[in-house]
Parts: sequence; C-alpha cells; structure tokens
Amino acid sequence: MKRIGVFTSGGDAPGMNAAIRAVVRAGTAQGLEVVGIRRGYQGMIDGDFIELGPRDVANTLQRGGTVLLTARSKEFMTPEGRAKAAQNLRDAGISGVVCIGGDGSYRGALKLVEEHHIPIVGAPGTIDNDLYGTDYTIGFDTAVNTALDAIDRIRDTAASHERVFFIEVMGRHAGFIALEVGIAGGAEVIVLPEDPTSAHMCAQVIEASAGKGKKSSIVVVAEGGYEGGAEALARDVKLCSGIEGRVTVLGHIQRGGSPTAIDRVLASRLGAACVDALLAGASGVAIGEVNDEIRLTPFKEAVEKRKDINRRKYELAKTLAL
Ligand code: ATP
Repeated sequence: MKRIGVFTSGGDAPGMNAAIRAVVRAGTAQGLEVVGIRRGYQGMIDGDFIELGPRDVANTLQRGGTVLLTARSKEFMTPEGRAKAAQNLRDAGISGVVCIGGDGSYRGALKLVEEHHIPIVGAPGTIDNDLYGTDYTIGFDTAVNTALDAIDRIRDTAASHERVFFIEVMGRHAGFIALEVGIAGGAEVIVLPEDPTSAHMCAQVIEASAGKGKKSSIVVVAEGGYEGGAEALARDVKLCSGIEGRVTVLGHIQRGGSPTAIDRVLASRLGAACVDALLAGASGVAIGEVNDEIRLTPFKEAVEKRKDINRRKYELAKTLAL
C-alpha cells in the first residue's frame, strides 16, 4: 500500500479535522501518500481529490467542521454510483481509504468493501455517540460541552424568573447527549428516546420538585425523546397540568465550534490507528476506543449492534434531581 485516501461524510463533527490531520501525518510518517477526498461519497464519485501533505493540515487541529467538506450523496446509494466511486479510487492509485463519519457512512463503506474489494477502515465521527464499538465518538464531548454552556446560561434565567425551561438537544435515536448534559447541568427531568416519558409523568416530576421547594426546573429533551420534541412536550405538559414552560431548541450550535481536548486527542489517536490498521491489512472495520484501548469492530457489527446508554448514570440523574 503506497497511497491512501481520507474523507469525511454525513453530519460534520468537531474533531474531524484532528482526525484528518492524524491520518495525513501518521500516513506520511509511514511512507504513504495521502489523498483528501472532498465532499464525502459525492466527491468520490466526482473525482474531487486533493493531495495532502503534513503542511496542508497545519492549523486545522483546533477548527470545527471539516476542511475536506462533507455531503450526503444519493448517487452513492446506487450500485452505479458506487462503481463510479470505486473506479475513480483505482484510477487515482488509491489502495486504502479512511472513512470518518457516522453509521450511514459506515454502511456505505461496507458496500464499497463488499462490492469492489477496496480496503476501507472507519473512524467514528458523529456528535451523537451512537456507534457501537467505541466508548465515545469524535465530536460528542464538544457537543456536550456546547449544550452544557447553553444550559448553564438558561438556568440563570430560569432561576431568576422562577420558570420551567424545556431544552431540546440533538439525539433523534440516542440520548447520549441528553443524558450527559442532563447530569452535568443538573436537570430535573431528562427525556430520552431509550426511555420515553409521558407529558403526565414529566408534569408530575416538575410538580414534585416545586413541592420540595424548587423554584425553577430544567427539562432536557433529546430530539427523539418525545414525538414533536421539546415544543410538543411543553405544550402537552401545559395541557395536562397547567404548568407553563419556555422552550429552547439548541439545534445546530451543538455541531460547530472548536473541539475540546478530549475530542482532539480521541480523533488524533483514532486517525493514526486507522492508518496502522490499513497497513496491517485490515478492511471493513471501524476503529474505536474502548477502555482506553484501540478496538477494531467489523462495520456490520458497528452498524447493527446498538450501544445502550449507561442506565446507572440515568438512575443517578434521577436521584440527584431530588
Ligand atoms: P451522522 O450520524 O452524523 O448523520 P452519517 O454517516 O450517519 O452521519 P448519513 O447521512 O446517514 O450520515 O450517511 C452519509 C452518506 O453515506 C449518505 O449520504 C450516503 O451517501 C452514504 N450511505 C448511507 N447509508 C448507505 C447505504 N445503506 N448504502 C450506501 N451508502 C450509504
């Protein structure tokens, strides 16, 4: 293997640049040429490739987003699109690829491996932390800290005005962000897709909190924790109990920003481990970190198995909301 490609795909996540930089520098250190594939799978189909040397990734470690850009590609979902992408890789002399993205990106990579036998390894780049085979994904820690900063600010207002706030954080299918910021932000209620709560139950907890002398309450709602999100939950809580709450949907601010030290270190380590894995002959595997050790998980397993939230942490959150 002399020449490898690297690309980012799906939703951007803080730390993707640190991962790209690690692939470029660890690859160069091992005598490889590294090619950046722009705009994810779409760039692979369009042949949007750029040579990347160690200096080309200077000053990117601390930047959010992805310097290689990212995209969602419908064309890649077709066998014809994938054949075109594979041919472009071969024509560019690329004999190994690092894919940085979420579960959709892994699914695409798996198809490319199976149909065209191109060695691909993946690094988990998604703020949602919903990938099996790694304790944490690249971008999760930053997203949690960004959301937490917002919650701290909202709590100042909630406490001053003695109000109830419903704060929606990202997480359509997984409540990792909500659970983490809920505990760190001292939420009275955390609403997760893994354990849906009714408006009635939510109202009961808020009322009980008020009964215990709390003058304000924070309800952290994962996008997928309640049908219609925080807006709908606030509306239904009002309908069933009369409790009036303010709603803040944090949305895309959770995606951007400079990655935390934790995300930079994770991304650096996983990016370099991807190069090592390719050179060792690995393909069709996701590289993760489990208990501080590098772990290789087949793409199939990484996308099919579900990583559950830490139920003990969830119980702790309830206990501490006393
Ligand atoms: P995030 O979790 O941040 O949304 P993701 O990697 O899951 O990131 P997706 O939009 O699901 O993001 O996937 C990225 C791209 O991967 C898609 O636009 C598509 O081109 C490709 N892809 C996803 N699923 C498949 C599939 N089953 N077969 C082929 N390609 C796929």
